Amino acid sequence: MTHPPIPSRPAVFLDFDGTLVDIAETPDAIVVPPELPDILQRVQERVEGALAIVSGRRIAEIDHHLAPLALPAAGLHGIEQRRRDGGAVLEMPASEQLAVLHDRLAHSGLISGGVSLEDKGAGLAVHYRRAPERGDAVIDTLRDIARDLDELHLIEGKMVVEAKRGDVNKGTAITDFMTAAPFLGRTPVFLGDDVTDEDGFRIVAGLDGVPVKVGDGFTDAPFRLAGSRAVMDWLHRLANPETSLAS
Ligand SMILES: [Mg+2]
Repeated sequence: MTHPPIPSRPAVFLDFDGTLVDIAETPDAIVVPPELPDILQRVQERVEGALAIVSGRRIAEIDHHLAPLALPAAGLHGIEQRRRDGGAVLEMPASEQLAVLHDRLAHSGLISGGVSLEDKGAGLAVHYRRAPERGDAVIDTLRDIARDLDELHLIEGKMVVEAKRGDVNKGTAITDFMTAAPFLGRTPVFLGDDVTDEDGFRIVAGLDGVPVKVGDGFTDAPFRLAGSRAVMDWLHRLANPETSLAS
């Protein structure tokens, strides 16, 4: 496992579920470590504001879990963006094809017996964490009923398949952040644990940054941390004034 370096002027991008908090049986059941908001705030100060959460969740949910912080963030894999601390949340228009998919899902018989549908507004998520044996059926059914919906992209995550606009992802979100202060001109570091984070890893690698896979599994990222506990240790190291950063 190659431990990630801390660049001299980092811009820090952090996935949420599976990276900062352990994944739970349902998205609402996560346990946020009590020290997490404080450590994130200290890192944010250390990197002169250049810290953002990049998640599949809505930004409002991230805010709820990290209160009282309102960090720069990308939600719904980049469809929602808040570019500055405490600023307004901007949302790109959703594809109208999502309503078609929602209707088809409701009539598919798929959403039952431990398989649940989460309507995120700008995206749909089908969770099967409580029925892992139905994972293949979830993927096959979604591929089948979304086949002609060309604006949508299906993303297979951990015990979840999501449908959303195909032209926005965590990589495009990071690119957007990097075009403006306080991120502009810094070296991006992105920590994420899931398949959807690979888009971010590719963008960060292209900017000579530090892509970091959290946990096991295939990745294109050259660096790895074992899990959320190791992420917390890495954040503590970054927040420590004795860790040298160029200003
Ligand atoms: Mg994750």
